[in-house]
Amino acid sequence: MRLAPDLPPSVRRLLFEAGVEAEPPIERRIFTNRDLNFDNVPVVGFDMDYTLAVYDQDAMEALSIACTIDKLIARGYPERLSKLEPEPHFAMRGLLVDKRLGNVLKQDRHGYVGRAYHGLRALAKAERRATYRTQRLGGERERFVPVDTLFALPEVTIYANIVELLDRHPELWSGDRPSYAEAWDDVRACIDEAHRDGTIKDRIRAAPGSFIERDADLGPTLHKLRSAGKRLFLLTNSLLPYTDALMTYLLGDAMTAYGSWQAYFDWIVVGARKPTFFREPAAFVELDGTGEPSGSEVAVPQRGRIYQGGGQEGLQRALGVHPDEVLYVGDHIYGDVVQSKKSSGWRTALVVQDLEHELAVRRDFAVELADIEHLHRLRAQLAERLSQLRHVGRTLERFEAADVVAFGADPGEADVLLETSRANLRRRYDRTRAYFEEVQAALERREAAVDRAFNPYWGSMFAERHETSWFGAQVEDFACIYTSRVSNFLFVSPSRYFHAPRGRLPHFEVFR
Ligand SMILES: [Mg+2]
Repeated sequence: MRLAPDLPPSVRRLLFEAGVEAEPPIERRIFTNRDLNFDNVPVVGFDMDYTLAVYDQDAMEALSIACTIDKLIARGYPERLSKLEPEPHFAMRGLLVDKRLGNVLKQDRHGYVGRAYHGLRALAKAERRATYRTQRLGGERERFVPVDTLFALPEVTIYANIVELLDRHPELWSGDRPSYAEAWDDVRACIDEAHRDGTIKDRIRAAPGSFIERDADLGPTLHKLRSAGKRLFLLTNSLLPYTDALMTYLLGDAMTAYGSWQAYFDWIVVGARKPTFFREPAAFVELDGTGEPSGSEVAVPQRGRIYQGGGQEGLQRALGVHPDEVLYVGDHIYGDVVQSKKSSGWRTALVVQDLEHELAVRRDFAVELADIEHLHRLRAQLAERLSQLRHVGRTLERFEAADVVAFGADPGEADVLLETSRANLRRRYDRTRAYFEEVQAALERREAAVDRAFNPYWGSMFAERHETSWFGAQVEDFACIYTSRVSNFLFVSPSRYFHAPRGRLPHFEVFR
């Protein structure tokens, strides 16, 4: 049974309570990169920010901009920055900032730069290729900064606007103007400060409802996992007061069977310092209800208590299962998924909230996408034919009348024959060339329309032209499964076998 995407959560929950196994709307499916038998996973862990807690990205961007701009102006940046309007589409995950040149880039899985902006201006193809054609990016750690968390997106928008001001209105700086690289470091420092001194988190704590979506399916999802005998843990870098405010908002009164959010979890670790948590052993400090250390430090956390710090090794001992029987659900490619996979051996689920929009566009533009696929194949065929015709043309140019006679032509007609063949070939070439250009133009028009729907600046987050994007490749390489939100587990059986599509190399296709 397929559920309509707009079915109210209360109705969906009713169906679930009634034991109706329903196929979710496409936006809420779970996708598999690597086989995972959920039946063999007795322990499931969760990150909090952007995983259990789904932030409203527009509200977060407005808040981050408001909290950061004041700090930048205090450092001598122009007052005009206070007029900066949020542009929720400009930044997305998987981009790369080139600090030295003030550019923001999107790469495909091979590191080819497919799109680039200098400030808010798109680089033309020639300029982009001249700048980034030969280098393998990312190697220069000082110069290139990956944008891999949703918390980092507002930085990119602020930075691009500062680059614009530096280029267009240098007179707004009274003293020395910062270089592009210094401007990036200043933006980073100001946002860090706003996170550290509580400017941002205090505002969210005071009104979680303005920044976080309360997902009515979340409580029932965790309950379903627990009812199937799985044990759950919370592992977050946020400190207890903030964690408590958000989790109370999300789960505090979600289900009558649970008196508090803590009741959903067997183990709770806050202030975990991931990714260091996965690499270095450290003691767990037990906290009292107010978030203050209650004195005892332990190597292995106990159930039903709240700890700060610690390391993966100690937590693993507490869980009492083999590492590959643990599924960790997080949103941060590096901090949650790459590190935990490399150092801990846990299986990983990545939450990518943008996936809902991505899938909605793929559904709404299915016909256009099929058309693009077809035009792309056609263009490749035509390009191959053009190169064949060029090769024949060059060969024919080198021929002389004597060669044609040697192949058996009448000497009196050799010149005419050669000329006619050349003229025929030119006509064929011109016709094919015109067709190629028509297909190319149609392809560009359709791609532009679909790209605008994905993201007006960058197109699809998971693809770059006809290749997987850098971000998409990371999702594929590091996440065993991925989905748009935690509550999508409500739609799958706790003993589901997640099957990955079978791996393929081009030569596998030969014998199909
Ligand atoms: Mg997170």
